[in-house]
Amino acid sequence: MPLRTPAQYIASLRDGRDVWFRGEQVPDVTVHPVIGKAIKHAAIDYEMAESDAFKEIAVVSENNQTYSRYYKIPTSTEDLLLRSRLIEAATAQGDTLVLLIKEIGTDALFALLAVTARMEDPKYHRRVRAFYEYCRDNDLALATAQTDVKGDRVKRPSEQADPDLYLRVVKRRNDGVVVRGAKIHTSVAPNANEVIVLPTRAMGEREADWSIAFALPVSTPGLKLLTSPFGDGDIRAGERPISVRHKMMETLTVFDDVFVPNDRIFLDGDTRQAGALALTFVEYHRFTAVSYKLPLVDAIVGAAATIADYNGILGATHVREKLTALIGYAETLRALTEKAAERCTKKADGQVAPDPLMVNMAKSHFAHGYHTAVQHLQELAGGILVTGPGDEDWASEATRPYLEKYLVGRQGVPAEKRMRMLNFIRDLSASDYGAYQEVLAIHAEGSLEAEKLQIFRSYTENGSAGRVMELVRRMARL
Ligand SMILES: Cc1cc2nc3c(=O)[nH]c(=O)nc-3n(C[C@H](O)[C@H](O)[C@H](O)COP(=O)(O)OP(=O)(O)OC[C@H]3O[C@@H](n4cnc5c(N)ncnc54)[C@H](O)[C@@H]3O)c2cc1C
Repeated sequence: MPLRTPAQYIASLRDGRDVWFRGEQVPDVTVHPVIGKAIKHAAIDYEMAESDAFKEIAVVSENNQTYSRYYKIPTSTEDLLLRSRLIEAATAQGDTLVLLIKEIGTDALFALLAVTARMEDPKYHRRVRAFYEYCRDNDLALATAQTDVKGDRVKRPSEQADPDLYLRVVKRRNDGVVVRGAKIHTSVAPNANEVIVLPTRAMGEREADWSIAFALPVSTPGLKLLTSPFGDGDIRAGERPISVRHKMMETLTVFDDVFVPNDRIFLDGDTRQAGALALTFVEYHRFTAVSYKLPLVDAIVGAAATIADYNGILGATHVREKLTALIGYAETLRALTEKAAERCTKKADGQVAPDPLMVNMAKSHFAHGYHTAVQHLQELAGGILVTGPGDEDWASEATRPYLEKYLVGRQGVPAEKRMRMLNFIRDLSASDYGAYQEVLAIHAEGSLEAEKLQIFRSYTENGSAGRVMELVRRMARL
């Protein structure tokens, strides 16, 4: 089957889905002023598959089949690197700087394929495989709902005052199960075709009902999407060159006693595999994360160097120091991302996953350094990031001459050119979109502590801890 066009993707979202925005039900997400923007942003994935410039990397042709590269199950370092390059290109293309759509759900599919292949009961793997082929052949867009609302963070799912604070099975039928609960922060859910649901953590023996993974069309009865309006304000194109066009939407994804048919259940009651699934998903998903962050950190380095030049300070020692720190930050991220692919680990059926140690180090390096990188950028740009003029001031004959005269940079840098750069930096770092990027850096694809935990665990489990301890024992002649 051929890949879908952007128009076909957009039309597929008119399916009666139950979406809410600021307390009101949205009859058609595709024409909603805010959700519609997120849809156009996501449609870039579909545009890239059609464009001459990106077709080669965005589309895979094998065994008489043509499908999106996002659906290519990685079996080698090269597959992982090509996936990473596609994600990077998508995020840099049209200065999107956040994820589009196809990257997210395929990570969940790869995790489901890898984990179910090891399960004793083969029916789960068969179901995942059939679902994977259905999504791939129909070129679908998927959201992944993993994060539960969690209530008291220290208590386990079975210990919560309200058992629905982690999504769970409330009824079993011959033809499927009924689930209740809410997932949170679900990116791209209002503009996806299907939502894949995964457990968010390892489960204990008493937590069989919470050990559930499945997928459903977004229009399934009882599935309600309460969208976050963050960043929905009045945005002027000149002042906010990035966020005027680009947006991801997150939802509180409520499962109000939703029926899941048997063929869509991928894990049910297996408490041991619930944790394995949660962890395998993040191995893939953190690789996607660091891949889409590459254009973002490159943009910070480029913007810092450009505004330093425009302000005439490029030669100053402290400026060189800050730029050197930013270069190290960006290039370390790139190197760790590539290393994660290079050292990939084998899963079932020849499938590979990014090296957990390297990928968690990459994500942790990015997340820990992001605010400092923004600090350097803001410092070099100056306070005009939050005191500069608006689009109307440039349009007005009364005020424009003053802006042109007084807001210039070093000789040869006119005010308008300098202010365009500053508006780019302002949007990136000092707008609600900039704040979104900061919170995204810390929490999305797993929090700082989650990555630390995985770094320690992977280092211990891959034999590195034993190797270095043996080394010092030998050095100390113990
Ligand atoms: C923009 C954005 C997009 C996202 N997209 C998705 C998505 O598409 N799908 C999805 O499933 N998720 C998504 N996430 C969720 C993301 O993975 C979570 O935000 C992240 O895992 C942190 O969870 P939380 O937000 O519930 O914070 P919390 O877990 O509440 O963390 C808050 C603080 O509590 C600490 N803490 C938590 N538990 C404990 C404990 N037991 N003991 C001690 N300290 C604890 C944490 O370390 C942290 O310091 C997204 C998040 C963001 C911000």
